[in-house]
Amino acid sequence: MTLSKISGQPCKNCGNGKGKLQRIIEGWKNYIFPDPQIELKAKYRALRCASCDFNRDILDNEITGFLKPLGLMIPVCTKCWCPIEAKTRSMDAECEINRW
Ligand code: SF4
Repeated sequence: MTLSKISGQPCKNCGNGKGKLQRIIEGWKNYIFPDPQIELKAKYRALRCASCDFNRDILDNEITGFLKPLGLMIPVCTKCWCPIEAKTRSMDAECEINRW
């Protein structure tokens, strides 16, 4: 079962689960080994995500909320359930609502 099936939303980033996984892996690779041009594009995308209602910290809940004072955050796009850090660094990824 793909995450888009769980969320009930079609995901532009995945024709199937494997395509989405490959894009997220590409995004994490670009996070670990930063390229200046990709980082520039990722910063623009992250700014657009920062003001989006679908951007949520998945640690901000009753169970893991105690981690918040430690400054830990895992921002996720709740439109497609992709981690924002990886999604913004996957050059083939698209915003589900065309904000970038
Ligand atoms: S990818 Fe698009 S829909 Fe998702 S959080 Fe960013 S701006 Fe919002």
